[in-house]
Amino acid sequence: MPTPTDHVEYATFSGWVDPPADVRPALKGDLDCRVVVIGGGINGMSTALRLVERGQDVVLVEAEFCGHGASSRNAGQLAGAPGGDLQLLDLLSRRKMPGMMRLAEHAAHHVEDFIAKHDIDCEYEATGNAFAAVSRGQMGRVRRVAKIVTRAGGHVEVGTAAELGIPRGFVGGMREVVGGRMNPGRFSLGMRQVLLDSSARVFEQTKVTDVTRADGRVVLTTPRGRVRADRVVLATNAFAGEWDITPKHLSVPIYVIEVETEPIAPDRLAALGWTSGMGLVTQHAIMENYRLTPRNTIVFGVRRLERGTSYPLPEKVPDPGLVEELAGAFATRFPSLADVVIERAWGGWIAITSSWLPLAGRMGEDIYYSIACNGHGLAQAPYIGTLIADAIVDGELPEDLRTVWQDKPKFPRPVMMSRAGLRTIWAYDRFTDMVNGSRRHARLRG
Ligand SMILES: Cc1cc2nc3c(=O)[nH]c(=O)nc-3n(C[C@H](O)[C@H](O)[C@H](O)COP(=O)(O)OP(=O)(O)OC[C@H]3O[C@@H](n4cnc5c(N)ncnc54)[C@H](O)[C@@H]3O)c2cc1C
Repeated sequence: MPTPTDHVEYATFSGWVDPPADVRPALKGDLDCRVVVIGGGINGMSTALRLVERGQDVVLVEAEFCGHGASSRNAGQLAGAPGGDLQLLDLLSRRKMPGMMRLAEHAAHHVEDFIAKHDIDCEYEATGNAFAAVSRGQMGRVRRVAKIVTRAGGHVEVGTAAELGIPRGFVGGMREVVGGRMNPGRFSLGMRQVLLDSSARVFEQTKVTDVTRADGRVVLTTPRGRVRADRVVLATNAFAGEWDITPKHLSVPIYVIEVETEPIAPDRLAALGWTSGMGLVTQHAIMENYRLTPRNTIVFGVRRLERGTSYPLPEKVPDPGLVEELAGAFATRFPSLADVVIERAWGGWIAITSSWLPLAGRMGEDIYYSIACNGHGLAQAPYIGTLIADAIVDGELPEDLRTVWQDKPKFPRPVMMSRAGLRTIWAYDRFTDMVNGSRRHARLRG
């Protein structure tokens, strides 16, 4: 019997866009500049763009092409709240919560302003996103999180699925009022075009193999040339662990995946009651995400995290076993669409920190890092990148940057991010799903 995962196309890049046709040539020879940015994701590109805007002489070097990493591969859910476990964060760092909340909402608005200013055609809709509960237990968690977020100054609404306009298969949820959904591939390549049109010198296909200091300057080594600069910004996200200079335990590389269904008939989509069009994230310890696209498909993913164990990180395609597992979860959350076929799957590397918060900081006077927006980088990576540029030019930290700034580059070992730790968290989620499923059946029978 045919199954929904029989004909999945496994993409090595992204399901949202094709690679650009005009990839820029590699650096050949040596050059000097005031600031060099390593990594052309939305983080590094935003840093470079802001530096140019502030009159700096900027070089950006990117191993493949700008937008090659997570920036073009993510689910396109522009979040207006911080990532991670907000109950745990509130418990451990309540003092930081208002600052984190402010940063998250400012970040989403920053991206919306960027899209509008540069007229980037990335299908952005300011729908907000929902923390969606798949069980009564998750709904209790949503209510507790909503209290924490509201106390920290965030803007959210709690309601049933019908009140929020999310699919009836969910119990209810919390709407983050700020943010929305977009095609992240078009957003990243749109930003790339803005960067290429700017005065920044951009070298693609140029992998930095070493970062050292000599004669009071920072020196980047690449296969066919060196860059000497007064300041360098490491914006390589999950790939940051490749050099000796990177602080130990800065972050852990994790591979996450998304899949996309075939186009679904409009009447079947309408029957779901998903009138708000909001992107959804479930309240599992490792979330599932679901979102509609303008092509009447549903993109969904995550559910399991795969730890990268050595550098360089490999180019990967998703594990077919996980694609099947996601298809099973989809059939549970959207029973009326259980027959819908999955057309494609792709994945990307993200950097996760032990605190689940983004990090920025400095090593010595000259090397800045801006890294690890975890699963919330679509909003936060461009914003933090912009703030880093301001910090370099002004010599002082903008207020929102202080929230994530590390005075000393010392980080605890991320214990739960071991393969065994991640497997345990996944098993806990499946156990709670099983218990909730049995309770639901008992209620239906009774
Ligand atoms: C499947 C998936 C789903 C996600 N969903 C969401 C979501 O819905 N919402 C959200 O907010 N976030 C989401 N994220 C996270 C978000 O995509 C990231 O946090 C964000 O894109 C990080 O941007 P970045 O610029 O820091 O990193 P990247 O986009 O990864 O950019 C890093 C760049 O550095 C380059 N590079 C690496 N090493 C070198 C080197 N040695 N020399 C030169 N260049 C180098 C890489 O080629 C790459 O282009 C998701 C991520 C993934 C993978």
